[in-house]
Amino acid sequence: MADILYEYGNAVYANLTNQCCCRCTFCIRNTGDGLGSARTLWHEKEPGWPEVKDAVDRFDFAGFRELVFCGYGEPTCALELLLQTAAYMKALYPHMKLRLNTNGLGNLVSKKDIVPLLAPHIDSVSVSLNAPDSEAYDKLCRPDFDNAFAAVLDFAEKALRQIGQVKFSVVDVISEDQIEACRKLANDMGIPLRVRACGS
Ligand code: SF4
Repeated sequence: MADILYEYGNAVYANLTNQCCCRCTFCIRNTGDGLGSARTLWHEKEPGWPEVKDAVDRFDFAGFRELVFCGYGEPTCALELLLQTAAYMKALYPHMKLRLNTNGLGNLVSKKDIVPLLAPHIDSVSVSLNAPDSEAYDKLCRPDFDNAFAAVLDFAEKALRQIGQVKFSVVDVISEDQIEACRKLANDMGIPLRVRACGS
């Protein structure tokens, strides 16, 4: 059975779903089954609320200050579960900060603006920018949607206004020139950019 909660670095991570609307060429899911303390992050069956609640109830959060929604899938593809889990965590552990790591396509997945739903529960958001323009994005991330890159920027802009703490990330599989172009785009939007090593 896949780990629903696992430790990675200084945080606890929540692996709510294996669904994703991208097929990124660099996706860590292509290179291994587990990460951090997780033996495997592949669910035999997508978890529901009873399984996630049970995992939260059993987990020892002592010493941890952050829970990150990030696993082997895109958390906003399991939006209801994400919201329910976040609300439960906030009720049980008000001191814990909740971060969403997302590909930024949740509004397209849900066909509505989900940022107002996230804002009451989520403290910070890390959005995978991945590329400086739509063409490069489509090539690298192979999204299920047309105009996905514009949707990522729109999501980040809405999250910045309604949640406040937003970061972009790119993976160092792209060229220095592309990273610089991403940095400029992020700067222009007033959002910090983190360049992360592939697989981290
Ligand atoms: S969005 Fe994340 S989980 Fe989905 S394919 Fe890309 S890297 Fe993998």
